[in-house]
Amino acid sequence: MPETTTDEVIQYSLQCAKGHGFDAWFKNAAAFDEQKARGIVSCAVCGDSQVEKAPMAPAVARTDHERRTLASAHPDAAKFREMLREYRRKGMSEADYVGDRFAEAARKIHSGEVEARGIYGEASKDEIAGLIEDGVDFLPLPDVGEDN
Ligand SMILES: [Zn+2]
Repeated sequence: MPETTTDEVIQYSLQCAKGHGFDAWFKNAAAFDEQKARGIVSCAVCGDSQVEKAPMAPAVARTDHERRTLASAHPDAAKFREMLREYRRKGMSEADYVGDRFAEAARKIHSGEVEARGIYGEASKDEIAGLIEDGVDFLPLPDVGEDN
């Protein structure tokens, strides 16, 4: 497979006839024109092949100035995911589920009002902010499914 570096491709901000905006990469300007003429450039949202460069597309400049940080999959990615899964399993199996009373329960444990024990549950953004402010120790449970 031929290797393509980001320096050799051009990024266009495109727009379909229905007004969906999306980005696409092409080998060069001619490649875009050619693929568009063949009707194989289609909207990422609805599949429409009536695609035009978005009016404000700063095309090439964009790849020069706004670079994205990407990473290939780490060789140990599967291992890390398994560790997170294990952490999640333990966090849940060795703790009591307190539902949406998490903030209240965590605060009681923090203040010593009730005996320390593992709990897990849900909290709103405001409640989380309040817990952080009060110095209550907690961790988010990683959101890792069992099958990916
Ligand atoms: Zn569309």
